[in-house]
Amino acid sequence: MFLNSLSSAISFVPAAGRLRCRPPAIRAMDAAQPFDMEAQASDLMDRSVRLKIAIIGFGNFGQFLAQTFARQGHTLLAHSRTDHSAAAASLGASFFSDPNDLCEQHPDVVLLSTSILSTATVLRALPIQRLRRNTLFAEVLSVKEFPKNLLLKHLPPYFDILCTHPMFGPESGKDGWAGLPLVYEKVRIGDYGDRAERCKRFLDIFEREGCRMVEMSCAEHDACAAETQFLTHTVGRLLSMLDLKSTQIDTKGYEALLKLVQNTGSDSFELYNGLFMYNKNSTELLERLDMAFDSLKKDLFGKLHDVLRKQLFEDSAEN
Ligand code: NAP
Repeated sequence: MFLNSLSSAISFVPAAGRLRCRPPAIRAMDAAQPFDMEAQASDLMDRSVRLKIAIIGFGNFGQFLAQTFARQGHTLLAHSRTDHSAAAASLGASFFSDPNDLCEQHPDVVLLSTSILSTATVLRALPIQRLRRNTLFAEVLSVKEFPKNLLLKHLPPYFDILCTHPMFGPESGKDGWAGLPLVYEKVRIGDYGDRAERCKRFLDIFEREGCRMVEMSCAEHDACAAETQFLTHTVGRLLSMLDLKSTQIDTKGYEALLKLVQNTGSDSFELYNGLFMYNKNSTELLERLDMAFDSLKKDLFGKLHDVLRKQLFEDSAEN
């Protein structure tokens, strides 16, 4: 039944469309079909969920996301300060040095993957008047309240806004995204036309990869992320300064530390700095970490002093 209605839909595609020929009528249901009807059907279905996504900030993380978007068949456009046209071409994306040209392609989704520190400048420089009026703006910054407020302030009310944070990166997500969290808040999604559907289609990209979908407010995200993400990056960066090496007698705990260094080491300092500067909870976390380290040292040195003092007094009593 479903295939039948698709087959008639295919035959009505206008001559300028991709499926130009009307297939010869099928006389018996079990007869060999003249072309791969199932593949055509699936192509038609796929095209109905495909999005044209413009990635702004085509660096480390933008390119990492693009690999999966491209594999799922979405049309990709990219723009960055640096010329990443070769990387874009290798992913089947069209690279635009001029953001005017990119916006004139009328993407369904504009995805900001710029560094936290540069996002406000990049957003202000985007010629949003060249976009379709109901474009969906999404972003993947590792802090959430800051871009939410920025987008609400900067974008006219007819643009939709979706804040997301894939809680993984090129290192931790290199073997797939299954089970990895995608945090999101639908900040402003219009309830007319196909806006809700377009937002769902974008989120479906992550759901199809098996991500754990976590709907959470941006404020709640930032409170949690200071304790989890900023702490993880801080400890990873601290340990990387010790230039740790693997030995023949590594314990599981030590292996976990080496992995932490590896996971956080490929991220830029700019990203780490953004986690600190643009999450108000990070300062408190850093202070707590500092106090915890001091108190740990006090405990250790206090005990050492006790032992030394005891020895000193015992020695003097013997003399
Ligand atoms: P990043 O250092 O945070 O950002 C690099 C991107 O920002 C590049 O595209 C770079 O442009 C652009 N950029 C930096 N300074 C700029 C400036 N002054 N003007 C214009 N563009 C500028 O590294 P990233 O890992 O690619 O992260 C991108 C975003 O994804 C960040 O917001 C980060 O928080 C978020 N994120 C990252 C991860 C991760 O694991 N890496 C995970 C989740 C979310 P060029 O291409 O021209 O260099």
